[in-house]
Amino acid sequence: MTSTELLQQSCAYIDGQWVQAESGERLAVTNPATLEEVGTVPDMGQQDARRAIDAAQRAFPKWSSKTAKEREQVLKEWARLIRLNAPALAALLTQEQGKPLLEARNEVMFAASFVEWFAEEAKRTYGEVIPPAHAGMRFMVQKEPVGVCAGITPWNLPSAMVTRKAAPALAAGCTMVLKPAEHTPLSALALAALAEQAGIPPGVFNVITSSRKNAAEIGAELTSNPNVAKVSFTGSTQVGKILIGQCAESVKRVSMELGGNSPFIVLQDADLKTAIQAALFAKFRNAGQTCIAPNRFFVHEAVSHDFVQGLSKAMEGLKWGDGARDGVNLGPLISAQAVEKVERHVNDALNKGAALVCGGERPEGPGYFYKPTLLTGVTPEMLMTQEETFGPVVGVGVFSREEDLLKQVNNTRMGLAAYLFSSSAARIQRLSGHLEAGIVGVNTGLIATEVAPFGGYKESGLGREGARQGIDEFMETKFICEAFVDEGNEAEVSA
Ligand code: ADP
Repeated sequence: MTSTELLQQSCAYIDGQWVQAESGERLAVTNPATLEEVGTVPDMGQQDARRAIDAAQRAFPKWSSKTAKEREQVLKEWARLIRLNAPALAALLTQEQGKPLLEARNEVMFAASFVEWFAEEAKRTYGEVIPPAHAGMRFMVQKEPVGVCAGITPWNLPSAMVTRKAAPALAAGCTMVLKPAEHTPLSALALAALAEQAGIPPGVFNVITSSRKNAAEIGAELTSNPNVAKVSFTGSTQVGKILIGQCAESVKRVSMELGGNSPFIVLQDADLKTAIQAALFAKFRNAGQTCIAPNRFFVHEAVSHDFVQGLSKAMEGLKWGDGARDGVNLGPLISAQAVEKVERHVNDALNKGAALVCGGERPEGPGYFYKPTLLTGVTPEMLMTQEETFGPVVGVGVFSREEDLLKQVNNTRMGLAAYLFSSSAARIQRLSGHLEAGIVGVNTGLIATEVAPFGGYKESGLGREGARQGIDEFMETKFICEAFVDEGNEAEVSA
């Protein structure tokens, strides 16, 4: 057996056991590049979710009472094993998700970086001692794990989105039930197998798999079960709103990483080579299927011709195909519906007057592919401006005045990331302060890192992941307000 086959699981993971769904149902996982079946996993439902929550609840007292250093050591071992198995994990990821092997490998290393980071942060969940407001008292604040947490993750980063939630939860002393996306359960299960090897105790990290059909009933259980203290979700704004609503009933803590509609702004004084390289990287990574992918391009009219020329030339280097093949740097989209959405956006733009520079069609053959596409003349009323396209398509719009620019850029209910290219310190300072986004990339397209907070303004989400803030999302703050009992007070009490 290859190491990838050794890591590929066909059961879900509850209470340290590899288990089937109560219903016995199974779900097929398909390679989006070849449409071949990669494997099958249990198609679980509400009963299985309940079983996993019970296991997490039973494991919580012991796990949360370990010292931070003990949890650090186990998590560090998990990170080490993820890195050690990176080639096999990457191959599995490419098979179920489609991204090119090199990118898959980078994602696996990114996944490991969250585990390592939060292993270290486990020891830094400091409280504080506050000068008391009254004499004879001590004011102390301490952080405590919230309890059992539910994680629901998407298919676009099947490895990193799992550890970005599980690592801070476990580091804080919480236990977790994780439901990965229906398209990509294998990466999550492989991570669970390595967690088991690393010595993470039974019930601390559980992975339940399901089809899209059963996701809603699992979601309903995770958001209503009184033993779940917190729900952390990454996915669409539409599903996020449903989950927030469901969590309201029992006032569960929520963290939401939802959709984006990120602007990419190129000012007239930008270094165009830098802007073009950043556009290529940020837009075509994962075939445009990241929530921080630039979705609206605002290029100053003085440089738009050169930007478009340069980008279309750079795009010639994109080789689409099966991500497992050598030299391929643009994989397929995740599903037929994803291709249809991209097609709808491109056709809508062309019908409303945009011009096609390159691409604009599906290639022949199997797989959910769409050719890398560049359009100009993109305007605010087009679908691709209003919604995330989530595909390998750049639609360039032009602006001339900075005052009009900001209004257009912020004219969206989303606020995840924004990219700004300029060589003027004053312009950078002025504009970056006014961009309504949780993450602003200035002269770079590389903005995701485990050491900095990731999250959105407005309907792009609630809370932050990664960084020192990421672990706080899994902790309660307790204020211990203590009055000293001196002899006088004692007399009072006993009187
Ligand atoms: P995408 O459009 O990227 O697939 P979704 O928000 O639809 O994003 O899915 C993200 C995750 O949410 C997946 O794991 C999916 O199975 C899950 N999901 C979808 N609908 C629900 C629901 N009603 N309750 C709980 N989870 C859901």
